[in-house]
Amino acid sequence: METKKPRYGMAIDLEKCMGCHTCSISCKMQNNVPDGMLWNRVLTEGGGDNIDRAGGEYPHLEMNYRPVACMHCDNAPCIKVCPVGATYMDDNGRVLIDYDKCIGCRYCMAACPYKVRTFNWQEPERMTGFNYGDAEVPVRPKGVVEKCTFCKERTDQGLEPACVESCPSEARVFGDLNDPDSLVSKLIKSRTSERLLEHLGTEPKVHYLR
Ligand code: SF4
Ligand code: SF4
Repeated sequence: METKKPRYGMAIDLEKCMGCHTCSISCKMQNNVPDGMLWNRVLTEGGGDNIDRAGGEYPHLEMNYRPVACMHCDNAPCIKVCPVGATYMDDNGRVLIDYDKCIGCRYCMAACPYKVRTFNWQEPERMTGFNYGDAEVPVRPKGVVEKCTFCKERTDQGLEPACVESCPSEARVFGDLNDPDSLVSKLIKSRTSERLLEHLGTEPKVHYLR
């Protein structure tokens, strides 16, 4: 019997996330993300239309947190607009970028409704000296677009993405959405879950749990 390849996705438990930004920093370290750029941001929710602000009236303020990185959309607008086929989906449902093909036109940045792509303005550099930066992760050339890869270099070896492994609240769960018995599938089914900007039809593979 033919077995389906894993289709990777993630669940993020908003009840557990405490906004510590550990996931942002571990992602930056793992992937050699240059200064001034983040692949994985943690936004503060609460201030009405202003997403990155606390809500309520002083002193009764309310803050919730929402980590945001690439959603690895099944119907990804970034793939559709790339004029050279540099952005593509691999066999495991990860949306990736071929840095050798990318011409830096930034159409994908304009098309991504989640604004999770960043343009690499800097000369390539591998961070060293602080025991961070994964040697397996390719150094991106100046002038290309980059973003979260679901830690391809780790997950190809059966490891969890750095953000999942480092989260002190265990708010993040990564796994195979094709497997109904995986923890990620079970959580999405059993809990109230939502995806960002679902009405756009992008079919994100990152689900938020309440
Ligand atoms: Fe939230 Fe975990 Fe990220 Fe901290 S590491 S901000 S708890 S998801
Ligand atoms: Fe593309 Fe943005 Fe969706 Fe990631 S979140 S797959 S960059 S459209």
